[in-house]
Amino acid sequence: MTLHVVVGAASDVGRVRDHNEDAFLVDDQLGLFAVADGMGGHQAGEVASATALEALRAAITSGEGIRDAVTSANDAVYEKSTTDDRLRGMGTTLTAGTLAAGDTLLLGHVGDSRAYVLRDHQLERLTTDHSLVEELIQAGELTEAQAEHDPRRSMITRALGIEPSVEVDLYPIQVHDGDRLLLCSDGLTGMVGEDEIEAVLTREHDPDQAARNLIEDANTAGGIDNITVLIVDLVDAESQTAAVPIVTDDQPTPAEASAEEPEAAPEEPPAARPRRTRTGRGRLRRVLLWALPVIVVLGVAFGVVDYYAHHTYFVGSDGGRVTVFQGRPGGLLFWNPTVKNRTSLRTSTLEASDASQVRVGHGQFGSLGGANSYVAELRARAAQKQRHALGNGTVTPTTAPAPAAPAAP
Ligand code: MN
Repeated sequence: MTLHVVVGAASDVGRVRDHNEDAFLVDDQLGLFAVADGMGGHQAGEVASATALEALRAAITSGEGIRDAVTSANDAVYEKSTTDDRLRGMGTTLTAGTLAAGDTLLLGHVGDSRAYVLRDHQLERLTTDHSLVEELIQAGELTEAQAEHDPRRSMITRALGIEPSVEVDLYPIQVHDGDRLLLCSDGLTGMVGEDEIEAVLTREHDPDQAARNLIEDANTAGGIDNITVLIVDLVDAESQTAAVPIVTDDQPTPAEASAEEPEAAPEEPPAARPRRTRTGRGRLRRVLLWALPVIVVLGVAFGVVDYYAHHTYFVGSDGGRVTVFQGRPGGLLFWNPTVKNRTSLRTSTLEASDASQVRVGHGQFGSLGGANSYVAELRARAAQKQRHALGNGTVTPTTAPAPAAPAAP
């Protein structure tokens, strides 16, 4: 299946800022789409987002994969910011998609711009923000609802051009005929709720008009930031061709055709052609209907496994010490847990119930901070146990209380 794209995009300064530091890129030939939200003093934010997109396009053109291309964009922004004093400290978000192998979208992502897909009228967020507020949500310290009004909402924890290297999130997404992708800067998502975005994308068929409507909604809500909206409609080339004779207003539906002109088809060759395409299209639909749930389930399962393997932490034991691992106890499929922070706390000094939990691996923390604070609780209970034991004079500690371990960066 070859998917064609129909793109609509718009960017707006908003109602408060005096210049637009957002930028977007659409390259149909390369199948490349990207949104960048620059930051920095004076005009530096604009330079950062433009530099990133330019470098991204050059890297994809020269055959780099999306992850390497985003890394190249980081290099380009960092290079400029460290060689020009006026640009020092500039940075940018980058959310970029390439349509590879017909029906796989590869998303490379750094920062708090977002990618969504509208599928069957349902909006689904594809990317995780690299923002302080998102980390607090993951750690269970903030609810989604609280986050909407949190003053720290625009603080990002990862951006391009700030450091010589950057960690790029990569999302492979199976896409389908009829999918509508949305790439946008936080100037949209900070102002317009996901329900409203879903409604606009469902209601307005034309991608350009949908992009303009979303920008208008963001401005109506205050427009406190630059707003960029890029919409990519994925259309199966085959069904698009077949659809041409069917979608015209005066074409009867198959049911009407057989009711109103039952003898027309066999005698008249011109009538035969649309009839064949209808059948072909019907079969395509049935195949898609059968295959879609399987593909969606596999895609979601892959996403979930990948998420739990890479975005969760647990506290276990390594070499007799309480240790924070990234991943899931025992690993998931071919993702094994990795050691993030081996603390000085001995598993043998823990309270019995804590020790047994740690031995099998405890918790499913959304952030390293969450896991570390659980370790702090363990440490506190272990110390209390030891004090208690000393007080009763029943146990003589064989080791001095361990000093606090430095938290992993
Ligand atoms: Mn912004």
